Amino acid sequence: MALQLGSRLRDTRGRMLRDLRISVTDRCNFRCVYCMPKEVFGRDHDFLPHTMLLSFEEIVRVARAGVAHGVHKLRLTGGEPLLRRDIETLIAMLAELRTREGERLDIALTTNGSALAHKAQALRDAGLNRVTVSLDSLDDATFRAMNDIDFPLARVLDGIRAAEEVGFDAIKVNTVVKRGVNEDDVLRIAERFRGTGVTVRFIEFMDVGTTNGWNLDQVVSSAEIIERIGAVHPLEPLQPAYHGETATRWRYLDGAGEIGAISSVTAPFCGTCSRARISADGKLFTCLFASGGHDLRALLRGGSSDAELEAALARIWGARDDRYSEMRSADTAAERIEMSYIGG
Ligand code: SAM
Ligand code: SF4
Ligand code: SF4
Repeated sequence: MALQLGSRLRDTRGRMLRDLRISVTDRCNFRCVYCMPKEVFGRDHDFLPHTMLLSFEEIVRVARAGVAHGVHKLRLTGGEPLLRRDIETLIAMLAELRTREGERLDIALTTNGSALAHKAQALRDAGLNRVTVSLDSLDDATFRAMNDIDFPLARVLDGIRAAEEVGFDAIKVNTVVKRGVNEDDVLRIAERFRGTGVTVRFIEFMDVGTTNGWNLDQVVSSAEIIERIGAVHPLEPLQPAYHGETATRWRYLDGAGEIGAISSVTAPFCGTCSRARISADGKLFTCLFASGGHDLRALLRGGSSDAELEAALARIWGARDDRYSEMRSADTAAERIEMSYIGG
């Protein structure tokens, strides 16, 4: 596919590339039961050696290639991105990039919050715009059981408080809801953040990877979640903030803010999916449920120019046909990459 400067890249379904999610490490200090179950990610698990990870310079080159094709938004993820040493240096480097229209990029980070209390200021100073903190329970025992390393809830709440103090443009909380595990937290978490400016987004438990023992019975649908909250605090739907937004948005009628629901199981949104994902070792995935990626690191380390990198991205995106969630069925359970590798 010829690279057409000035025109926007579209895949075979007409979807543009707008977001790049970059995993900066496959390691994590948590062992969330739905993501990195201990039985699989135990002491002898082979994580990527440092030399396999993209360097900061390589990440910036990939981001620049994305930006050349219209990417506006970067999200750093992992594993746990705050475990990557000097992550704030990477953020400062990315913050130098400009969109095709000459604007600043929107730079966000998803974290488990365990190191946020002492990192928040440095992240903000480096140019991070938005932060999303994963928080599955406000009950300390349930929280410790879900992260499966006995990590105390209070330290993550301290992290969220620190994020509020340093004044990010937006703070979100991600809550994965698992039937019979943290259903009771739905209302508790919604109430804890009502009126604070922090937006909670409830996520349906997804069949990412092949190790988390996913089963449809464990999924609490977004419809049920919204109904539970709305029964106590009436809600009305809001329009998406932008084309391709993953969450459906709801507003409290009493003006106490909004919440979101990410329904990748019960109401897939592949039709507007504008996200590409880069794994920590530099593979480009055009779908969260892909079984394989495209090796950009080989190009980066093999002497490819920026123009060649951009052309490769154009070729890969141009051939993209993914819509896993819309096709999900019993026989789609083949090999899939793990969430901790690709970052969500
Ligand atoms: N470690 C960071 C964190 O937890 O925020 C970033 C990486 S984590 C893989 C990104 C997001 O994916 C988190 O909000 C997490 O809750 C979510 N996640 C992981 N496994 C999931 C699953 N099976 N279904 C739905 N969401 C999942
Ligand atoms: Fe780690 Fe995030 Fe996965 Fe939990 S969800 S195990 S914090 S990568
Ligand atoms: Fe995008 Fe794949 Fe998720 Fe569909 S299943 S929304 S194509 S990442």
